Amino acid sequence: MVIKMRPEASEDEKLEIIAFLKGEGLNIHRSESEGITLIGVGGPLENIDISDLKVLIGVEEVIRITAPYKLVSRHFRNDNTVIVFENGVSIGGNEITVIAGPSAVESEEQIETAAMICKSMGAKVLRGDAFISRSSPYKFQGLELEGLKLLHQAAENNDLLALSEVQDRYQIDQFIQYVDILQVGPRNMQNFRLLKELGKIDKPVMLKRGLSATIDEWLMAAEYIVSGGNNQVILCERGIRTFEPKTRSTLDISAIPVLKSLSHLPIIADPSHTVGDRGRVIPLVRAAAAAGADGIMVEVHPFPEKALNNRALQLYPDQFNQLMKETGAIARAIGRKL
Ligand code: PEP
Ligand code: MN
Repeated sequence: MVIKMRPEASEDEKLEIIAFLKGEGLNIHRSESEGITLIGVGGPLENIDISDLKVLIGVEEVIRITAPYKLVSRHFRNDNTVIVFENGVSIGGNEITVIAGPSAVESEEQIETAAMICKSMGAKVLRGDAFISRSSPYKFQGLELEGLKLLHQAAENNDLLALSEVQDRYQIDQFIQYVDILQVGPRNMQNFRLLKELGKIDKPVMLKRGLSATIDEWLMAAEYIVSGGNNQVILCERGIRTFEPKTRSTLDISAIPVLKSLSHLPIIADPSHTVGDRGRVIPLVRAAAAAGADGIMVEVHPFPEKALNNRALQLYPDQFNQLMKETGAIARAIGRKL
């Protein structure tokens, strides 16, 4: 349930309502959206009579939200969530933010070169995994803590933000020292203990869609993080499992406008892992940008043929350059910036 206050409601009136609801044992999430205070109410609502709330002073409207997610819903917040970083970069605003970098951090030289290339072509965030999700335990697992430090250093040297995938709640303390955005991978989208811990931190979390997750399940996973107190959540569409074997997964372009109508959270598209072939990444990036994605994440490696993982799908620097030019043209055509 969301209580929308009148624009002229006084602070005392708002606090009185909040105190009343808390006294009923309910959880309160207050937000200011377009100059209006919204009070999100969660918990056991059975004993609450909406008609009693509607007549309280200062209340404009009481909206019962039937969707299972509340705080990430557009009902709770009409304007888009925009995440603004200290260096001025933002995600969720008018700009289409580009996250680029290798699949994995492999060495100081590799990540530094990748950072320089990505920065020079217009990326704002450097990605690189230090702990890699592999389907085989015998393959390269990442440089672990050393990899996080190298990523951090390369990002800082090139005025980029750093993003890497956190796999376990026990790693969070390390991650918050070295990265600006913590990625949750698709295999962990419903690792609720991890999500709860990420709800307690003050850093943006990029939540990838699970391989077989519906949009509602994905938004519920986001709700776990936001309800814990961290409202800096970015959704990332990375393809879902369908009956089609020609691609690794099917990038769900339609999820982008659907999410834009259901939720105020920013949405990024990651086409790199879906087609499994670098030659097919650019068309999907164009499609995602045109469909309204707030950002794009692509894998770029200085020498993809020498990469320690995901060799076939990491872009060559000149492909990334082409992608940036084409996406820039699409951004302009739809009134956005790259
Ligand atoms: C990644 O982002 O590096 C990655 C492995 O993607 P996914 O887990 O979505 O396949
Ligand atoms: Mn990868």
